[in-house]
Amino acid sequence: LREEEDQAYFSSYSHFSIHEEMLKDRVRTESYRDFMYKNPALFKDKVVLDVGCGTGILSMFAAKAGAKRVIAVDQSDIILHAMDIVRLNGLEDRVTLVKGRIEDITLPVDKVDIIVSEWMGYFLLFESMLDSVLYARDMYLADGGSVFPDLCTMSLAAVADPLKHGEHVAFWESVYGFDMSVMKAVVIPEAAVEVVSAETLISEPAVIKSFDCNDVSLSDLEFESDFCLKISKTTVSQQLCALPGYAERRREIGANEKLNLLLLYNCLNPQVTFSTGPHVDKTHWKQTVFLLEKPLPVQTGEELKGRISVHKNRKDPRSLLIRLELRDRRLHYSLQ
Ligand code: SAH
Repeated sequence: LREEEDQAYFSSYSHFSIHEEMLKDRVRTESYRDFMYKNPALFKDKVVLDVGCGTGILSMFAAKAGAKRVIAVDQSDIILHAMDIVRLNGLEDRVTLVKGRIEDITLPVDKVDIIVSEWMGYFLLFESMLDSVLYARDMYLADGGSVFPDLCTMSLAAVADPLKHGEHVAFWESVYGFDMSVMKAVVIPEAAVEVVSAETLISEPAVIKSFDCNDVSLSDLEFESDFCLKISKTTVSQQLCALPGYAERRREIGANEKLNLLLLYNCLNPQVTFSTGPHVDKTHWKQTVFLLEKPLPVQTGEELKGRISVHKNRKDPRSLLIRLELRDRRLHYSLQ
């Protein structure tokens, strides 16, 4: 990555507000915390590397979980605050903070037993920060060591939500009385990051990619994948807030139901388990939405086959280009 592009990336992490948003995402932060606190045997007396420590939260969890030493690395200025935070919490003997890009610095140890990192972007791979974690893995992870989170899954689902579609597409046809429909050509190809209601799902999720951070390679992160969206009489699992377990909610889809969005979300499993899907508590990642300009009529029971390809944008390697083929349509999207 070019130096000047990366400066913009790292300065976006220097302000406190993005860290506040991440820390307040309890699904995210508590998943990491619970994983570490519930696996003290894994952390006891281990050397842990936290790639992109931000405020130092994961490093402090790891120290409390029993790590002998934690090395926390961040290029962004937020690490200056992390240094104060670590001291304020009396963990300076165990947590060593190093300011710099993981690719540029020299760690104070040769090898580490565990790497933890919160590298996930929208559409999982946006930001390309996983590249840096893989660099750290190949450079510093001891034989038999582990990277957490490990298993990651990306899923696609079909959505019928005429209201949301209208807000994004038909909206431009009349804006305060003016026709702005030329805007559709720029709006539709830009993947939207939004929360989608679970009731609008009309298919089972189709996994388009899964990998393990312990053995995935850089080239695996650009991929093509066939998928099959089984249009269902929607079986959406919905989590009830106050009750343990799940309730099933069904919605019959009419004969003329139209698919107008495709949705992508992620799941991390099993060591740090959470999903950014629409059927569970929402996270700051929301979901990634691909709008279809013209809704696609679908039938219950139909198997809608398609293909997705995901590539880095050569001009801006932290952003993504996504191509979807669905029936005879070829759709191009970017996430930037
Ligand atoms: N671990 C923290 C912050 C996660 S955000 C938490 O969970 O709250 C990701 C952080 O990684 C940002 O602060 C960013 O500056 C840092 N980062 C991303 N790529 C990096 C790299 N190559 N080297 C060092 N830090 C990096």
